[in-house]
Amino acid sequence: LPRDLFGPERRNSPGLAFGDGAALRRWTDAVARAAGPADAAPILDGAVQTGRARPVVSPIDGAALGSVIEADPATAALAMEAAVRGFPSWAATPARERAACLERAADAFVREQGRLLHLLQAEAGKTLDDAVAEWREAIDFLRYYAAQGRDLFGEPQDLPGPAGEANSLRLVGRGVFVAVSPWNFPLAIFTGQVAAALMAGNAVVAKPAPQTPLVADFAVRLLHAAGIPGSALHLVPGGPETGAALIEHPALSGVVFTGSTATAQRINRALAARDGAILPLIAETGGINAMIVDATALPEQVADDVVVSAFRSAGQRCSALRLLLVQEDVADRMIAAVAGAARELAVGDPRDLATDLGPVIDAGAKQRLDAHIAAMTASARLHYAGAAPGGLTVAPHIFEIGGVADLREEVFGPILHVARYPADGLGSVIAAIRAGGYGLTLGIHSRIEETAERIAEALPHGNVYVNRNMIGAVVGSQPFGGSGLSGTGPKAGGPHYLARFATERTLTVNT
Ligand code: GLU
Repeated sequence: LPRDLFGPERRNSPGLAFGDGAALRRWTDAVARAAGPADAAPILDGAVQTGRARPVVSPIDGAALGSVIEADPATAALAMEAAVRGFPSWAATPARERAACLERAADAFVREQGRLLHLLQAEAGKTLDDAVAEWREAIDFLRYYAAQGRDLFGEPQDLPGPAGEANSLRLVGRGVFVAVSPWNFPLAIFTGQVAAALMAGNAVVAKPAPQTPLVADFAVRLLHAAGIPGSALHLVPGGPETGAALIEHPALSGVVFTGSTATAQRINRALAARDGAILPLIAETGGINAMIVDATALPEQVADDVVVSAFRSAGQRCSALRLLLVQEDVADRMIAAVAGAARELAVGDPRDLATDLGPVIDAGAKQRLDAHIAAMTASARLHYAGAAPGGLTVAPHIFEIGGVADLREEVFGPILHVARYPADGLGSVIAAIRAGGYGLTLGIHSRIEETAERIAEALPHGNVYVNRNMIGAVVGSQPFGGSGLSGTGPKAGGPHYLARFATERTLTVNT
């Protein structure tokens, strides 16, 4: 691996010490100063398109934030064609220049801290803590892929061979990559996908989630201003129809997608139904993420880590804990500790620094979660029900269910399910998790090393966390992504990600 992946040349971006009152005030002032209307529109070849706009409102209070012009299928097709034209010159741009663009973009993201944090809060309903974490992750993706890609896509690598033969290997972009990103990390995942595809030498057509076009539009403007040509990066806000037009376009060379398992499966089927080239899908989807807690675990630590894992970001993370599995002997004590810690959570306006859980993303999400809470209230044992002040907030809940097989769907919100397992039942728990088919995050709390090793070894999960919380993967430290129903495997922020956006070519010359 290139040395500078880990060396002093790259550092993850610093955050904010929330305990430092003066620093905190500087940041909140910067966010307040950066408030103000925002718009989003298709950007093709660097030109902002016109069309019919619809309003974008905040999930916090329904306030008007600005408007978005969505790309209809015809505009999506135009973006694909523009990207085809843009690909050759971007692919021919030396890797060090492509990397320099990403690094300049990272600097711009730092300078535009206030505006980006404002948009993350206003458009996605994030707490400042979550917004800061996401903003840092976006910057880390830019710098990480730049540092790595400079080497990976730089000079061809010489390979051994017999005397009289020169062999070399190089990585080149595939062509036009479509990047489809989710609303829950509308800056970090959007930027990570785009940065990786660009670094690998692809032209990119990016479709942000329909709930969060504003922050994506601003990010694209920063990327363009940092030197990424308009012909190499095109923005098409829109919903499923726009996405379908991109995926079905003949010019497509690959797709990077983060979102639901069902949508990834639909994309996969659409790719399989095409004539012609066989195209890669880099997908990161959901999970019914479990944490296994045995009798040796420390209840206070479990309580903290469970509450963060299940309820931070109102549970709207792919990585979030959905199912807590506790060894029977200690279950009453552990569940009481978790419920006690959950009681401390404040639900409300995420711009209030005391708030832990802001709103969920939209009315549809709230309806689905409320329906799940109603069904669970009727069928499961309630251990905790928090309070929610209205709007799109959802009160945190803890329900006890019979076992792993009783939770069949990913419930994308602040609802934790718990189940007990007997002291000799660990094997069955592992088998049941495995049978579920998901493989994203897995938490283990045990002070017996062999137990943790046994569980981690037996399950296919992409991100395993032992004796800590199971969210907030850090670029370069916890490359993120899962397998099975949770994705096709490539790990964002990891050393093997960029290569998945490229083809590899060898050249053999008889000298
Ligand atoms: N990488 C994020 C985390 O570790 C989750 C990303 C997602 O929700 O898609 O919490």
